[in-house]
Amino acid sequence: MFKNLRDTIKDLNADVKNVANCEKAKKLRKKLLGIGLTLAIVGMLGLITCFAMIFVTAINMQFNSVIFIPMIFFFPSGVLFALGAYISSLGFQIMATGYTTNLIDETVGNVCPNCKESLNQTDLFCKKCGTKVRKECSSCGNINDFKSKFCSKCGNKLD
Ligand SMILES: [Zn+2]
Ligand SMILES: [Zn+2]
Repeated sequence: MFKNLRDTIKDLNADVKNVANCEKAKKLRKKLLGIGLTLAIVGMLGLITCFAMIFVTAINMQFNSVIFIPMIFFFPSGVLFALGAYISSLGFQIMATGYTTNLIDETVGNVCPNCKESLNQTDLFCKKCGTKVRKECSSCGNINDFKSKFCSKCGNKLD
């Protein structure tokens, strides 16, 4: 299961400029962080409870059967915490990728300047808010970035 997950993340990281990948990465990241952080918190609480119980028992010097409860729960809590931490770390790997992707998109103009929706290279208008995101050259028809003042292909002045 984790091998597949790691491969999926590797694939997603390998093609960060792909809009569909970016969407997929966002969804997977949300899922991984949701599951991972929940498990880690539950495991952590379990560990803290076990420590507290052992501590209290040790102070009171009452080494009766109660001491077995934290001892039994200590190991599964630890496993739960480790598992949660690992799943979260996978989620955070995607988070870093998603962040980088957005930065790249913003730099090369693949994100709507108005609403930040991801765009395809050929989109003239944002499909979400309708903002004009590219300038089509009136002379040669070349599609230019919305920040361009002149056509990158023929040098014609864009308005
Ligand atoms: Zn937009
Ligand atoms: Zn042109």
